[in-house]
Amino acid sequence: MRRVYLDNNATTPVLSEVMEAMRPYFGERFGNASSIHHHGQETRAAVERARESVAALLACRSSEIVFTGGGTEGDNLAVFGKARPGDHVITSTIEHHAVLNACKHLAKYREEYLGKTECEVAYVPVDGRGLVDPADVKRALRPNTKLITIMLANNETGVVQPVAEIGKIAAEAGVCFHTDAVQAAGKIAIDVDEIGCDLLTISGHKFHGPQGVGALYVRKGTLLEPMLHGGSHERSRRAGTENVPGIVGLGKAAELAIAGFERGDDRKMAAARDRLEKELLSIEGAGLNGAGLNDAGLNDEAAPRLPNTSNIYFDGIAGEALVIALDLKGLAVSTGAACSSGTIEPSHVLLAMGLAPERAKASIRFSLGKQNTPEDIDFALALTAQTVARLRELSPLWPKPAVSQKLGARS
Ligand code: PLP
Repeated sequence: MRRVYLDNNATTPVLSEVMEAMRPYFGERFGNASSIHHHGQETRAAVERARESVAALLACRSSEIVFTGGGTEGDNLAVFGKARPGDHVITSTIEHHAVLNACKHLAKYREEYLGKTECEVAYVPVDGRGLVDPADVKRALRPNTKLITIMLANNETGVVQPVAEIGKIAAEAGVCFHTDAVQAAGKIAIDVDEIGCDLLTISGHKFHGPQGVGALYVRKGTLLEPMLHGGSHERSRRAGTENVPGIVGLGKAAELAIAGFERGDDRKMAAARDRLEKELLSIEGAGLNGAGLNDAGLNDEAAPRLPNTSNIYFDGIAGEALVIALDLKGLAVSTGAACSSGTIEPSHVLLAMGLAPERAKASIRFSLGKQNTPEDIDFALALTAQTVARLRELSPLWPKPAVSQKLGARS
């Protein structure tokens, strides 16, 4: 059976060049990068080359890159490395759970161990397009604000936040600014100075690198408490023997992402996504989440989005049912964050944007990767249109043609 994968915001396939770059480090180049002999020097050199490549992707110094075990670890290191129970943290309602639950844990710890119950985490809202208003971030500042953590691009909608404006506000207030760039890295160009962030998280598997490896950018001079205690690896910021094959793969994925930007891969991706989106939106009762037309009927200017993501609702259908029906026919898409699949709770991101729960539950995320072809888009279009029509025939939530009309059509 033909299988088309349009769930690249969940994870991406590892590119063959990345596999090739990693292969020797599972075999003959096995040394511990901290060993002083030949084997260690060989892998140390590979780790430092990868650090240069990741730094080039983020336009920073290689000494500002800390390798981690992925996006969740990077986000947790930013939150717990910077904030203590009792500090005030500003985040948004649409963050990934790697940030939201880290912040929740900080607040819980404060309550349990310090006996203080007032909320020390401010959650700034988003508008109908899924955008944070920097003025809300400014208003949320308090004298004891230690960290602002607002994502660069949302994993469910692809909406890109005004992080440069938030960076300015943070700098003026002298507050550390972290941004979760896990979905943005490799898809849009990132320059840490343009953003004005002090900490920034990326994860290899979201841009055709391996799973379980990532990096945290830590601006020179930023004080950060380690979460893992042990050896003095990663300048004492992340103890533990380096995952050399993973780090080499991350470095190669970064190099390939830079080459992709130079070739204009992001523009091609946006064109393919736009074609998919335009045709899907021509289906009756379909609409784009993040487009600007919110439930209150306000028609704002569309939000800037990643070039690969479309989050679309199909009224009258349960998103989970659509995902399963499409999968049975060979198309992999998602109802939103992979981590919350298996629950039928509507997405916290779409609810925060003001969608009614039924519409949030009727929403599907299509996310493209470098491997997708025009034929994949054709396949997805034909299959989605057919499947939506079939599910609606069975749906009590979708108006059906009158019985007399049906009989008339048969006679
Ligand atoms: N942040 C965002 C925005 C994500 O989309 C994800 C993964 O879906 C993560 C963090 C967690 O990254 P990882 O899967 O590498 O732990």
